[in-house]
Amino acid sequence: MITRSPIDVQTTPLQDPVSPGTRKPAWQRQLAGAIRDPRVLCERLRLSDAWLPGAETGHALFEIRVPEAYLARIRPGDPHDPLLRQVLPLNAEMHQSPGYTLDPLNEATHTPRRGLIHKYHGRVLLIASPTCAVNCRYCFRRHFPYAENAPSRAQWQDTLDYLRKDTSIREAILSGGDPLAANDRQLAWLVEQLGAISHFKRLRIHTRLPVVIPDRVDPKLLGWLGRTRLQKVVVLHINHPNEVDNAVIKACTRLKEAGATLLNQSVLLHGINDSAPVLIALSERLFEAGILPYYLHVLDPVQGAAHFDVSDEEARGLMEALRERLPGFLMPRLVREVPGKSAKTPL
Ligand code: SF4
Repeated sequence: MITRSPIDVQTTPLQDPVSPGTRKPAWQRQLAGAIRDPRVLCERLRLSDAWLPGAETGHALFEIRVPEAYLARIRPGDPHDPLLRQVLPLNAEMHQSPGYTLDPLNEATHTPRRGLIHKYHGRVLLIASPTCAVNCRYCFRRHFPYAENAPSRAQWQDTLDYLRKDTSIREAILSGGDPLAANDRQLAWLVEQLGAISHFKRLRIHTRLPVVIPDRVDPKLLGWLGRTRLQKVVVLHINHPNEVDNAVIKACTRLKEAGATLLNQSVLLHGINDSAPVLIALSERLFEAGILPYYLHVLDPVQGAAHFDVSDEEARGLMEALRERLPGFLMPRLVREVPGKSAKTPL
């Protein structure tokens, strides 16, 4: 069995180590100390031994990674906790389900340069880091070939040349893995390069780090983010209201003070947020944190995640229930990403 995960690749040119003798920032120490052992996860959360074999089996396919700040929001002794279900591997990940593939969005056909995905008009996606602070079991990139997409500094220059030449591009999207898992010196360099491209208008950052390790939003990050001339959009990834604690709200406040617009995208997940009360509470909680609901994605059919699927009919029913209870600005758009389409498909 081959172990595949975003953390197979430990460093990239955007993740060089800090100088010897320099104390790592708090967030990096928390990242390094994240739980990566199924037995430790089960013991810390007082789960019965019955959960361990599944956790070990799934872990062999896609490694567990759970930082302490996220673990603290999980109810010990409750195997059905909605945050735990996002990070606990199950035997079900072994099932081969028809239609579920290694590359559900067919991203391999849209990579003109290493680390660059150019799928939509006017926007490009840059894989700024191959690692994440948390490994989500339903992740559509759980099989992504990060090792083949980790550019060297020279390859980054090649990518930047590509971006300079294509004047139709208005927006750079930093993605990963989680782009904020890269260090600030390197992110500052990349963002400065992007800001120097005159036809670029916006910088978008897709990240879960401010949610799972709120200390990631520290003065260094706020420094490079605040300095860029580009308009800034941070798209967070939050699936359940319990993920938004006071530390997350404070991190979001700091991002907004640096000039970022905050949006959220969720994935509709069986057993986690496939209920109208939970989705309503999520929208309300996001707004309390200064975040607008943006997308509610149906599951991308990635191999190993079929047990999270919610049918289209059920998804539409949930949206109807939300529409009866929420103002329009708190309604996420229910969408599916269809390979080959030039935009997300509304359901
Ligand atoms: S943080 Fe995002 S990219 Fe990383 S494992 Fe979770 S869903 Fe996937």
